[in-house]
Amino acid sequence: MLGPPGAGKGTYAEILSDKYNVPRIPVGDLFRQAIKDETKLGKKIKKYVSHGDLVPDEMAIDLVKERLQEDDCQNGFFLDGFPRTIIQAEAMEKFKKIDKALNFVASDRVLMSRLSGRRTCRECGAIYHVENIPPKVEGICDRCGGRLYKRSDEKPQAIKNRLRVYREKTKPVIDYFRKKGLLADIDANYRIEEVDKVISQCEKHLQNLS
Ligand code: ADP
Ligand code: ZN
Repeated sequence: MLGPPGAGKGTYAEILSDKYNVPRIPVGDLFRQAIKDETKLGKKIKKYVSHGDLVPDEMAIDLVKERLQEDDCQNGFFLDGFPRTIIQAEAMEKFKKIDKALNFVASDRVLMSRLSGRRTCRECGAIYHVENIPPKVEGICDRCGGRLYKRSDEKPQAIKNRLRVYREKTKPVIDYFRKKGLLADIDANYRIEEVDKVISQCEKHLQNLS
C-alpha cells in the first residue's frame, strides 16, 4: 500500500485485512512499538521517527524481512508503509513477491487536514480524527478502551517534513511499480463515510490474485 502520509493507508489496510483474512503489516506501527518498548532498534530510530524522517533503509528492510517470515504471513499480507525508497523496493524483490501495489492518491489539502486532526490509540493502534472520525468518548479508543494520543510527528513542522520526504524518496517507488505493471491508482479523496468507495476500487484490483 503506497501513498502519502494522510492518504488513509492504515484505515484501508485494516478493513482489507479483515475482509481477506490476512494480516496487515503497518511498518510505522512496528517502529513506534520498538520505540515504546525501548528496544535496541527503538533507541536507534527514535530521532528519525519523531522528526518525520525515514528510518535508515537497512533497519527498515531487516524489520520487514523478519516480520514477513512469520507464520501468519504465509497466505498473504497487506504491507502498509513499505517500501518507501527504491533501495527498499529492490531489496524486497529478493525476499518476497509482491502481487499488487495499491497507490492511494489524495490532494494536499485533504492530506494536511487529515494529518493534523489525527489521533491514534496507544494500545491497539486504531486511528481516529477529531472531526471526521471522533471516538464515542473523547480521548478513548472505542475498540479497546486505550488512550488516544497525537503522535510526535503530527506537529505541523514534522507533517510538512513527512510530505517533503514522501515527494523526494517515495514518489519514485510508485514509478518503479508502474514500470513493472503492478501499480493500481486508487482515488482516496473520499470522506470517511464513503470509505466503501475506496475499498471497492481496491477489491477490483485484488480480484484475480492467487
Ligand atoms: P505515515 O504513513 O502517516 O507517515 P507511518 O506510521 O507509516 O506514517 O510511518 C511513521 C514513520 O515511521 C515514518 O515517518 C518513518 O519515520 C518511519 N517509517 C515507516 N515506514 C518506513 C519505511 N519503510 N522506511 C523508513 N522509515 C519508515
Ligand atoms: Zn485501541
